[in-house]
Amino acid sequence: MSFVNVTLQVPFARIFSYLLPDNATPTIGGRVRVPFGQRQAIGIVTAIHNHSDVALDKLRPISDVLDSQSLFSDSLWRILHWAIGYYHYPAGAVLFHALPVLLRQGKPATIAPLWQWFATEQGLSTLPKNLKRAPKQQQALASLLRGPVYRHQVSELQLANTALQALRAKGLCDLRLRTADTHDWRPEFRVNDKRQRLNTEQAAAVGAIRNEDNRFAAWLLAGVTGSGKTEVYLTVLENILTKGQQALVLVPEISLMPQTIARFRERFNAPVEVLHSGLNDNERLAVWMKARRGECAIVIGTRSALFTPFARLGIIVIDEEHDSSYKQHEGWRYHARDLAVFRAREEKIPIVLGTATPALETIYNVQKKKYRQLTLDKRASSDKPTGQKLLDIKGLALTNGLSTPLLDKMRIHLQADNQVMLFLNRRGFAPALLCHECGWIAECQRCDHYYTLHQYQRQLRCHYCDSQRPLPYQCLQCGSTQLVTFGLGTEQLEAALTPLFPSVPITRIDRDTTARKGALENYLNQVQLGGKRILIGTQMLAKGHHFPNVTLVSLLDVDGAIFSGDFRAAERFAQLYTQVAGRAGRADKQGEVLLQTCHPEHPLLQTLLHRGYMEFARQTLQERHQAGLPPFTSHIVFRADDHDNHQAGLFLEQLRQLLDDSPLRDNALWLIGPIPALAPKRSGRFRWQLLLFHPSRLQLQRLVTASLPLVSTLLQSRKVKWSLDVDPLDN
Ligand code: ADP
Ligand code: ZN
Ligand code: ZN
Repeated sequence: MSFVNVTLQVPFARIFSYLLPDNATPTIGGRVRVPFGQRQAIGIVTAIHNHSDVALDKLRPISDVLDSQSLFSDSLWRILHWAIGYYHYPAGAVLFHALPVLLRQGKPATIAPLWQWFATEQGLSTLPKNLKRAPKQQQALASLLRGPVYRHQVSELQLANTALQALRAKGLCDLRLRTADTHDWRPEFRVNDKRQRLNTEQAAAVGAIRNEDNRFAAWLLAGVTGSGKTEVYLTVLENILTKGQQALVLVPEISLMPQTIARFRERFNAPVEVLHSGLNDNERLAVWMKARRGECAIVIGTRSALFTPFARLGIIVIDEEHDSSYKQHEGWRYHARDLAVFRAREEKIPIVLGTATPALETIYNVQKKKYRQLTLDKRASSDKPTGQKLLDIKGLALTNGLSTPLLDKMRIHLQADNQVMLFLNRRGFAPALLCHECGWIAECQRCDHYYTLHQYQRQLRCHYCDSQRPLPYQCLQCGSTQLVTFGLGTEQLEAALTPLFPSVPITRIDRDTTARKGALENYLNQVQLGGKRILIGTQMLAKGHHFPNVTLVSLLDVDGAIFSGDFRAAERFAQLYTQVAGRAGRADKQGEVLLQTCHPEHPLLQTLLHRGYMEFARQTLQERHQAGLPPFTSHIVFRADDHDNHQAGLFLEQLRQLLDDSPLRDNALWLIGPIPALAPKRSGRFRWQLLLFHPSRLQLQRLVTASLPLVSTLLQSRKVKWSLDVDPLDN
């Protein structure tokens, strides 16, 4: 008699046992269909054996074997199992998370035909230049004449869907379902010759990585914005692909980097697949399958692309490694950078972490000699350094957040036909609406949080729970119509600048203006065209764009960022500032950065401005060391929430007691809480947390592993929603 252990997609840590019929031959890491309660469920086999701890009459047989081969490579299987233990997350949830949706649903692991655009007979005999009044259509037809284009690659190739539809209406092209071509790219592999001559620093970095590109090595490529990091990735990849191996490139956000993706495509005569949010489930599975069969050379994707299987993975690149989007913020809270380093070690391949502003964790890993640092200090394209200055606004009257010296500077830069970028990390018109007569403030009842006024939609919106309500005409408390706004958001900044600079086009880039699909790309295109222009934006603007015509950058509200209750706030501000400053004067123009602050003497600002990000990081690491904070200690937070503000705190109190009573608890453990979360109420739930710090990762993990099975015995555990977060990034 044989038995299988199976994990299911359930949110709790449990393995289920089933009987194995004689003729069934499942495999570890493959899927089976099993009876589960009244229904059938998809499971992943984790073990096959000859004995069972469960009474035979309690066991049911599996219904079906879906895979004859494991869906996971050995290394991915090991990584995921390590992650299940490290993040204390249910095995089923983790393993299924790593699979494409269709496989989770039990669909076969094959590539279904995909939609493809192709030129019709009529299209083939049409010259693109006959469409010269419609440049987008011209571009799209030209592309189709070179070869058909899969629907999911339209946006990556920077073609317009509307243009394709227009061509289709004219009978010049059409859509068809096509089985993906599955040829071996290796015999035809070529590198395009248009590459740059590397400068000394780039050549040194490439040399170092290449020297050890057949074993595990973790490299921090610390290069200021525009220093040519992407060029280094491309050159390193040349070697890897020439050997017939594949590459995985992780980026924070796909939609922000069409130019970068284009550079990868142009450089190599090899299939590049991009995992972006516009893919449907079939297309996503097709990419997964191609990578696994070795049929594509490069996969570019965000966080979850880390779980793509590869036949011959040769390198991992993580661009903007400091970006917090690599950390999953709900459910299984893994960090893709950390798991990627683990994967590289398991696969015995190099990993390159590139950024202008390394995370403090990463710098610490360099200090501990776990990673090695390569530095690019010079801008590759232009040598003009940016001028950086603190604008002391103490006692100055501000017009909508703008000081007179800043306005004067803006005029100078705009007169020279350059672009100005204003950075304000608050979207909406104003962060509060209040009554002038009685002091009432419009507040979201579910979050106890001020509503943000969105003037354009005439709405109040809660930025915590996203609820919205129409703008009131009267105070809800005294009936007065004297409602006034307080504070400044990007929408108001835009409204205020329009009359001040009537002839200057203004582009606002925040979550509100870019919600519509394609909107961001449109804005970015307008900006690329050049000419005088004011850009207003939240931190979205700071990510990875190239704005060659921006010569003046200003951060309007520095003080809000440097005085914060979160110990990571300073690091985040410094990264943001450095990234934003790197956007000024990228081409051959002199750039300038101005920071408005009431605290120009603040040591953080002084260090950052005069000695740079790396020196700032060194000092901040020392402070963290003295305070016993990460990365010098390991950090785990337990969170709990309830609806009446009684249970969550109590639960965490009991949990704290449980930890305190554990024989594994030692004096080095630092417990804080239960304390209310930084946003103590959200969507009607009261949020509490218990923070654990320990100098030894191992000890802390042991304590938590031993204590977790007891949590369900706590009286309150069923009355609250609770979770734990290993290496949390936000509190
Ligand atoms: P990063 O990724 O560090 O921001 P990029 O690789 O995008 O930098 O390079 C910035 C700009 O400099 C690009 O326009 C790129 O083509 C150019 N560039 C990079 N390396 C060189 C080089 N060795 N010589 C000339 N131009 C270069
Ligand atoms: Zn009132
Ligand atoms: Zn709310």
